[in-house]
Amino acid sequence: MPEPALHLTELHALPPSLLTTPARLLHTVLPGPTLIHLPGRREPALFVCALLHGNEDVGLAALQMVLRKHARQPLPRALSLFIGNIEAAAEGLRRLDGQPDYNRAWPGTVAHVGTPEHGLMTRVHDIMRARGVFASLDIHNNTGLNPHYSVVTDLTPQTLHLARLFSRTVVWFRGTPGTQTGAFSSWCPSVAVECGQPGQATNEMAAARFIEAALHLSDFPDHPLPASELDLYHALAVVKVAPELSFGFGDPDAALRFDAEMDHRNFVELPAGAVFAHSTHPRPLQAWDEQGQDVAEALFERVGDALQLARPAMPAMITRDLRVVRQDCLCYLMERVPRSLVGTAMVDGTSQFERRGGGV
Ligand SMILES: [Zn+2]
Repeated sequence: MPEPALHLTELHALPPSLLTTPARLLHTVLPGPTLIHLPGRREPALFVCALLHGNEDVGLAALQMVLRKHARQPLPRALSLFIGNIEAAAEGLRRLDGQPDYNRAWPGTVAHVGTPEHGLMTRVHDIMRARGVFASLDIHNNTGLNPHYSVVTDLTPQTLHLARLFSRTVVWFRGTPGTQTGAFSSWCPSVAVECGQPGQATNEMAAARFIEAALHLSDFPDHPLPASELDLYHALAVVKVAPELSFGFGDPDAALRFDAEMDHRNFVELPAGAVFAHSTHPRPLQAWDEQGQDVAEALFERVGDALQLARPAMPAMITRDLRVVRQDCLCYLMERVPRSLVGTAMVDGTSQFERRGGGV
């Protein structure tokens, strides 16, 4: 028997208490996932997603700031906002056990086809596609120490201009099926932004400035950004811990041991030979590339009980939150897209870097 559908609440005005209610109490204001359409001077709307991960409240806080500022004046552009996993936010969790990840269940998902959440995200996608979208922003926190950066799934000039409004650090990957950005990027400029750790006012202000800048944009220039404007990285692989293994950070008793300050290596370009972890298990790490191949053997080599990088690479999004590592991943391994190729990559939305076989 199919699971019951998840109800989508669709509103055309702001519930007033939405602007003052923190993520954990949002369930007292909204019954569940909610899509709100607000008018503005220009159409079509900017689309903003918040709380796709329930413990990442920066998008909600930033929207509250922007909407408070415009409380007595019209928005420069119409705004549609989707507030996602309110149920997990009440518990301070990324998602509840038994729920699919709200940023893995959008059209294009493989793992969550037919779930109530897939039905819900498909409905939000279809509603927005029919209304038209100027640009799509998905706003996240992350759990490790990371700079502010955006994630894009294509390299069109419009998408990179949008990303540059937030930060010069841009990560390009398309390998995760069912993300919100991936679902929207084929028909409107789309970025996800990672705004550092939750609960920090400077991160919330950076996200609010980004939403504000996107709301004020009248159109997108169609000339490419100069390559010097961006630090563009490409994901080699997503690194996961073998499910059966115990692991820890600075924990001498774990079967797979990472440094206690592992997350200080985020966005640090590491040389071949850098020690990544210690374990005597034969296959403690999985490293999945964008084609879904496990490339751990090409990325890591074993010297005694040390796992070293077999090639230069830059970790990103390392988290020391054991639950997030189990639910999502340990980190991504990146490499810089050479500056000489950025301009060519931007012209047609594909990449010579990719065509020459960059990456593993
Ligand atoms: Zn997130």
